[in-house]
Amino acid sequence: MGRPKALIIGSGIGGLTSAAMLAQTKDYDVSVYERMSFAGGRFTQHDHDGFQIPTGAVHMIPHGKKGPFANLILGSRKRGGLDLSRHGVDFIPTTNFACQIKGGRLYQAKNAFGVLPWFPISDMVNLTRLLSKRAKMPIVGETENGKTWLSKRFSKEFVNFLDSFSNFAVSLRFEQMPATSVIRMLQNSFWSDKPHIPKGGCKGVIDGLRKDLKENGARVKLSTEITEILPGSAEESTKDNEFCVGIRRRGRDSSIWVGADAIIHNGGHPNLLKVLSDDFEVKEEITEQVNNTQAVGGIGFCFALKENVPHQGSGVTVLPEIDRVGGYVIPSFSDPSLAPQGQHLMITHQYVPSSDVKSEIEKGREELYEAIPWLSDYGEEICVHSYHRNWPCNRAPQGSELPADIGIEGIRLVGDGVKSHGWMMIEGISSNISNVVNEIKKEI
Ligand SMILES: Cc1cc2nc3c(=O)[nH]c(=O)nc-3n(C[C@H](O)[C@H](O)[C@H](O)COP(=O)(O)OP(=O)(O)OC[C@H]3O[C@@H](n4cnc5c(N)ncnc54)[C@H](O)[C@@H]3O)c2cc1C
Repeated sequence: MGRPKALIIGSGIGGLTSAAMLAQTKDYDVSVYERMSFAGGRFTQHDHDGFQIPTGAVHMIPHGKKGPFANLILGSRKRGGLDLSRHGVDFIPTTNFACQIKGGRLYQAKNAFGVLPWFPISDMVNLTRLLSKRAKMPIVGETENGKTWLSKRFSKEFVNFLDSFSNFAVSLRFEQMPATSVIRMLQNSFWSDKPHIPKGGCKGVIDGLRKDLKENGARVKLSTEITEILPGSAEESTKDNEFCVGIRRRGRDSSIWVGADAIIHNGGHPNLLKVLSDDFEVKEEITEQVNNTQAVGGIGFCFALKENVPHQGSGVTVLPEIDRVGGYVIPSFSDPSLAPQGQHLMITHQYVPSSDVKSEIEKGREELYEAIPWLSDYGEEICVHSYHRNWPCNRAPQGSELPADIGIEGIRLVGDGVKSHGWMMIEGISSNISNVVNEIKKEI
């Protein structure tokens, strides 16, 4: 008998980090299967004439060097991290904690409390209360939404500012999230470091992870889709394994079978349920929860900016006076390698309240030129991305996360369908990885 086989489905940030954690132990034979022709999922980029155009993430690490993502990626192995600085992975701070454009004027805050002078003094008092309050856990059957909760305590301007940030960060407005999730998300944001940019963009982290996987003997197979998961006994060749997994190379009609003793699925609950055979029983309440959870969409524009653009900085900039677009970042002010020399890359993000994507794109474009006074003189649109269906902004809306364990021993999920309470984006994904990996280790 060789080492137990751990099979990771999907090479998103959740899949690669869990694979790296298992591979570093050297106790498992680790393989990652990815159906796309590139690794990294929604956390990498493609080069377009020197602009590093994201496949999803706008090159932001929300909580910088103090959040769960930094602990996981840069933390020492003794403390449960992957220590990827050995492979050149690093995070560069943004120039500001946050900015906003209001009435055509740019406001910039160096740190979390630098935003407070923009709002009435009562907001400062109430924010201190909010931050000192013990973080609330989710309440079953909670009825109050985040906007109602905040509007009772803060000025309209402050709520609008935070709500635009939420639109930019999680593609949802506060009224679409339970109050406790919003409270926890704000606490995490204000308590943490300023956002950082991964050196070399998101791909800098993915490249570091791939080096680490290679160093530890793990394989990443691209253009290979997992089509079915059966009990190991289903095939002679996998009878000594817990699972028999169908894998299909792109362009082939049929699958071949490989054995696995543990599976970590990074492609979201609906995709896992689709490939699980009827031999496995999933509780009805979980199937129902999955069926009732809608992935969240979004739209993002990329602009090429002239070097002398009036906004010289990489801080997340929210646009509270417009409805669709939450804000933008210019990450090349922290890492110039993200744009060609003498230019900058600006990336916007907006939520999508209707199913008419074409009209949402048009509205977003109009709003951007309306809210950013210098955009028409200094910017040129490079491309626009719409994120939906199997490539969304969030596989589960913030505050409606799904369980990592669907009740089948040896199978777990990672990724943005299973973030921890109140942790957003990759911070939420990372805060679950160690638990999942530890559970898998116990089960095989
Ligand atoms: C527009 C946008 C902007 C964002 N900005 C930021 C940001 O700046 N900072 C931040 O922290 N977060 C950001 N996010 C969120 C972040 O990018 C995602 O939450 C994160 O990348 C998702 O990672 P994941 O682990 O869920 O895997 P995913 O990226 O979803 O990857 C899963 C992979 O699994 C593969 N897969 C699925 N099913 C199968 C199968 N059956 N067989 C083989 N492979 C399969 C898929 O092809 C995919 O590559 C943003 C997201 C979007 C869309």
